[in-house]
Amino acid sequence: MEKFITTTNLTRLAEELAANHRVLAPVATGCTVTFRRFQPGMTLDLHSRMAAVSAKAGTFPQTETLFLVKRDTTEKKPELIETLPQGKNVVIGGRPCDARGKLMFDPVYGTEKIKDLYFLQRRENTIFITLACDRPETTCFCHSVGSGPADPTGSDILLTLVGDGYVARAMTPAGEDILKLSLFTEAGDKGKEADAKNAKAREMMGQPHDYSSAPATILARFDDMDFWQAQAAKCISCGACTYMCPTCYCFNITDDDLGLNSQRIRTWDNCMSHTFTLEGSGHNPRSTKAHRLKNRVGHKFSYYPDLHQGVMACCGCGRCIKQCPVGIDIRQIVKAAQEYSE
Ligand code: SF4
Ligand code: SF4
Repeated sequence: MEKFITTTNLTRLAEELAANHRVLAPVATGCTVTFRRFQPGMTLDLHSRMAAVSAKAGTFPQTETLFLVKRDTTEKKPELIETLPQGKNVVIGGRPCDARGKLMFDPVYGTEKIKDLYFLQRRENTIFITLACDRPETTCFCHSVGSGPADPTGSDILLTLVGDGYVARAMTPAGEDILKLSLFTEAGDKGKEADAKNAKAREMMGQPHDYSSAPATILARFDDMDFWQAQAAKCISCGACTYMCPTCYCFNITDDDLGLNSQRIRTWDNCMSHTFTLEGSGHNPRSTKAHRLKNRVGHKFSYYPDLHQGVMACCGCGRCIKQCPVGIDIRQIVKAAQEYSE
């Protein structure tokens, strides 16, 4: 199904959905754009630049309470209250790399043996209304990892900016239901314009890089710590790359004692931090930043694809490249591993 929605009506749509959904949308925050819980009266900022942090929080919040424990002063057994996510969510204005990012979680958190109900429930109850990119940035490389600036994978609706609005294409029944709202009109010939824009954006990205040898070549470099030390020399272990990333799914668990009551909290974790693998004994299997960078790059371009039918655990959004304060570029590291000879 294909429809058209004006820019003004897209804001109205966000406002209407916010009445009975938790809507996440990009809004200008100081000098950056971030995903925020959208409330009527806020201004969507879909175009000034790609949001600095991905839309991952739609399905995997930065912080969430997993359960509460309530006690009273008697000898009664404490009461355990599970806080599984309730309600429905919508992510408006994420990019194709955002919508695709959540798919990397599936083979980890939704397997036969392991079912992360918190993630799965949000995954099931979150609608993605995605914006095709019409001006790919120099840091974007989604076309090299099996995607592209108008890739609809993982989206319920794909929007393409045409004139004073958007051609909206439904990819799922949930998307079709939204396109039936009266805020949408017939797309007519605008569909062809949208196709031309999407083709132009893809052309602007140029030739993709071939990462097919990356899993094997990175593995071949596994014990070559001179190589990894050279790649990690500039890293200051800030973790910005992991926090911005739509596909990083590691978390930490904290028990927060509130006197008689307490709660178990899950928060995003950061494998670039020294403490990530620090064991109680004091031993740290990834004791240097070179070990940690090797793990981050190796996981995305070697170990994950080896386990999951060659799919890279990177959707080429380029956020880690843009946000790294010392200019470390994951593309250059993988390329260096691919080109490296003994
Ligand atoms: S590794 Fe970097 S480019 Fe790849 S998905 Fe994560 S933030 Fe984006
Ligand atoms: S953002 Fe850059 S400096 Fe910070 S941890 Fe990642 S690679 Fe290192």
